[in-house]
Amino acid sequence: MTTVTVRPGIADRLSRMIQLPTVSAELDERGTAPFEDFVSLIAELYPLTHSLLRLERHTAFGLLFHWKGASDADPLVLMAHYDVVPVDESDDWTHPPFAGAIADGRVYGRGTLDDKGPLIVVLEAVENLLASGFVPARDVYLSFGGNEETFGAAAVEIADVMKERGIVPWLVLDEGGAVVDAPLSFVEGRAAMIGVGEKGVVTLKLSARGDGGHASAPPTLTAVRRIARAVNRLDPGTFRPRTPKAISRMLSQFSEQASGPSRLLLKILSRVPFLTARVFAALGGEPAAMVRTTVAATMQSGGTAANVIPSRASATVNLRIALGESVDSAVARVRRRIRDPLVAIEVLEGSEPSPESATDNAQFALLGEALGVAFPGVRPVPYVMMAATDSRHFHRFTPAVYRFAPLEMSNAQRASIHGVDESVEVATLERGEAFHRALLERLH
Ligand SMILES: [Zn+2]
Repeated sequence: MTTVTVRPGIADRLSRMIQLPTVSAELDERGTAPFEDFVSLIAELYPLTHSLLRLERHTAFGLLFHWKGASDADPLVLMAHYDVVPVDESDDWTHPPFAGAIADGRVYGRGTLDDKGPLIVVLEAVENLLASGFVPARDVYLSFGGNEETFGAAAVEIADVMKERGIVPWLVLDEGGAVVDAPLSFVEGRAAMIGVGEKGVVTLKLSARGDGGHASAPPTLTAVRRIARAVNRLDPGTFRPRTPKAISRMLSQFSEQASGPSRLLLKILSRVPFLTARVFAALGGEPAAMVRTTVAATMQSGGTAANVIPSRASATVNLRIALGESVDSAVARVRRRIRDPLVAIEVLEGSEPSPESATDNAQFALLGEALGVAFPGVRPVPYVMMAATDSRHFHRFTPAVYRFAPLEMSNAQRASIHGVDESVEVATLERGEAFHRALLERLH
């Protein structure tokens, strides 16, 4: 293996990135300048990456770097996004969100964890390896989107371009899980949570019409009551729980880390998926969301005056679709549960759940090897993500998609994502660089 010198100054470089307010949801107010400046900044901070890798731009915001490898084997794709979510002006940050302050061994600011921290550790590893003359065993693509947070088209187009060119990635790695403490309340120790799938989402509008009139002599079933009844019928039991393979694997990994009665309990659950589905569904909240499609009524409307029965009413329902189901099957189930032909169901938007990536393949093993180098003793644990990532666009044509940023995130830090005082430790950035370097060096 080549000797690699790690360039110092990662915190300063991340600070420069944080100082560019690439807020995709505020594009109209802020303009494209921060995004263009970000592209220039990469060229300035990563001169070897910029000159030795080929850069293609797809849409105004998608960057695709191509690093030619030593063989024609299917490539590795490392993904991240450089846009960030807005900051609530009324929030009180310890350090201003776009100052890029470095203090107490951390870099503070919007995007340090989501997703400029995960992005910079990719670039650092590539730049350090290029400086040593390293050539990867297979082609490597760096795919950086500038509108992930607004469900923009950059990653869609990059995935489409690859597909058109007949490129089938061997491994795709994007944001998602992280190295976390106490992944479940009854599990001790650290774990590297690796997303092997992500749920789908569909938003439905339920609407009903009925006879309007004066509120003093109401008919039995008004439009408002129809909608209320329909929403009520969509209780948590609407969808049957089912345990994804990844969750059984997760529980099995945790059982080895646990002690006392929870060790036995986890072992039993890991071997009896049917039981896990029942137990997690009964727990409600996050455990329930892991094993089934969830339904949440988010908006309801109808009526304009306190004493008039409205002739129409509606409700908006947001579903997160479990792996193995589909938008169509979910809508069909909602229709059956509502049992009312006079309630119209309209699909406002939908995206399918991803398939589940394997954990017994060479790709997952490689992630484990790189973890062993950068985070000794931390095990890779598969799970299913509730949120959507850009990597879902690749799932249509490549089976090995994983969602993991090689950074340590405490529970408080995870809560700061999209929140207040987002920050990343400098020491974990260094480990993140080591993870990607190990991954690239061990590609075969
Ligand atoms: Zn993100």
